[in-house]
Amino acid sequence: MTGFPETKHYPMLIGGEWVDAIDGETSDVITPIDRNVVIATIPRGKEADADRAVEAAQKAFPAWAGMHFKERQKLILRAADALEAKLEDLAQLTALDTGNALRTQARPEAQTLVDLFRYMGGIAGEVKGVVLPAGDDQLQYTRREPLGVVAGILPWNSPLMIAGYKTPASLAAGNTLVLKCAEDAPLTILEMGRIIADVLPAGALNIVTGKGSVIGERLAVHPDVAKVSFTGSTLVGRHINEVAGRRLAHTSMELGGKSPTIVFPDSDLDDVADQVVLSTRFARQGQSCTSGSRLFLHEDIYDSFLQKIVDRVSTMKVGDPRDEASDIGAVNSKKQWDTIQDYIEIGESMDGVEIAYDGRKTLEVGEPGFYHAPVIFSKARNDWQTSKEEIFGPVLSVIPWKHVDDVVEMANDSEYGLAAFIFSKDIDRALSTGNRIQSGWVQINQGGAQMVGQSYGGFKQSGLGREASLEGMLEGFTQIKQLNVKLR
Ligand code: NAD
Repeated sequence: MTGFPETKHYPMLIGGEWVDAIDGETSDVITPIDRNVVIATIPRGKEADADRAVEAAQKAFPAWAGMHFKERQKLILRAADALEAKLEDLAQLTALDTGNALRTQARPEAQTLVDLFRYMGGIAGEVKGVVLPAGDDQLQYTRREPLGVVAGILPWNSPLMIAGYKTPASLAAGNTLVLKCAEDAPLTILEMGRIIADVLPAGALNIVTGKGSVIGERLAVHPDVAKVSFTGSTLVGRHINEVAGRRLAHTSMELGGKSPTIVFPDSDLDDVADQVVLSTRFARQGQSCTSGSRLFLHEDIYDSFLQKIVDRVSTMKVGDPRDEASDIGAVNSKKQWDTIQDYIEIGESMDGVEIAYDGRKTLEVGEPGFYHAPVIFSKARNDWQTSKEEIFGPVLSVIPWKHVDDVVEMANDSEYGLAAFIFSKDIDRALSTGNRIQSGWVQINQGGAQMVGQSYGGFKQSGLGREASLEGMLEGFTQIKQLNVKLR
């Protein structure tokens, strides 16, 4: 496929207006499909731009928070309809901006955004308090109140889906919002804003662009930002939690992962292999925080199951993300591509490693795009750097195991604890193993993505807090006020 749309300028959304950075500076946005093509320019927002976005959100807060929930609900559901009407445009732009393949990733991601708006709009009336039975002369009750202005800081890997976790939940609970786009994939978020700006009151949703260390940092330290909802790397998350924590702001952290997949000897099956390939997130170039990037295969089925994985992965087509035939699109940036390459070199140099699959040898696409085919390390060890650190690329480490206690210990021997996948026909065994895994999300006998409404978040260095479910919306975006009344 060739041909790109004309370079377009995407301003920021602040207080219902489409604006440039106060100092007028802009940045180019290139597409991962072709590093030479500038698809857009965006404002390079600075601290002063963060300040005016927070001010706009602050100004819109009392009216939005004070609305009857039915009104907020109506507007969030109307936003869902508006987004759904533009779903294909959002999916196409996702492919262009992030490199995620249209069929396997970009379209489902846009659909998840719509689903989350609908889900959170639907439960906007669940922001309820409780009454304590304290006697006939007392009315003791709680109100769940919104926090105020929420800053949502987004990564580049699946911006719409992550914005979907933060935006409708914040709004449903009565907060107003400033979203900060990732530098490397800002366009779909700005487009989302364009689609729903007229549905929401001015200032309820603001969207800014610029460098994380500048405009993002300002949002994290801003005294009027009540909560920082961050999704990104553990390194940056720790820093934001520290600076926001200094002023006791609320935070939630959706961070990195190095998730284990455990296959028991009773599951050397074709449908299990399909699910395990899904869990690798190869169809997202491995750029997924929940990627099952450590595959633990029982030694009795090691060779046979690994062959099933290789057979499947070798048929996956790496190509232009806009092409319906592509299973795997392009890695998001040159920086990310180089990082993946560095990790592969480290893996290849390890003692005893076997390369079960190296798709780079037959890769048909490449420069000037950031295409990268999957690589599978076999006979890997859990203590290798490539098994410990998040690569965020299409690289799988396959590790043999014999005893269940050993595989649980290896699975848990990670600083991360985001997702896990367990495959066994013996459900008792699968569940008891799942109970022992130190991860925020364990899937049994399936490898797909998060479901709308599920409690989602990490253990250990993978994060803090939950936002995507009903209880996550309540815990993540409201605070409780107790009122005790003496009745006459
Ligand atoms: P990143 O941490 O580099 O950047 C994330 C965001 O933080 C960007 O918008 C960036 O501009 C901003 N930022 C950077 N420095 C900042 C600062 N000092 N103050 C405020 N904001 C700042 O992460 P990334 O490379 O964009 O995304 C990849 C990472 O995100 C991976 O580690 C991945 O696992 C993680 N991730 C986690 C989840 C999850 O749900 N747990 C989902 C998607 C991605």
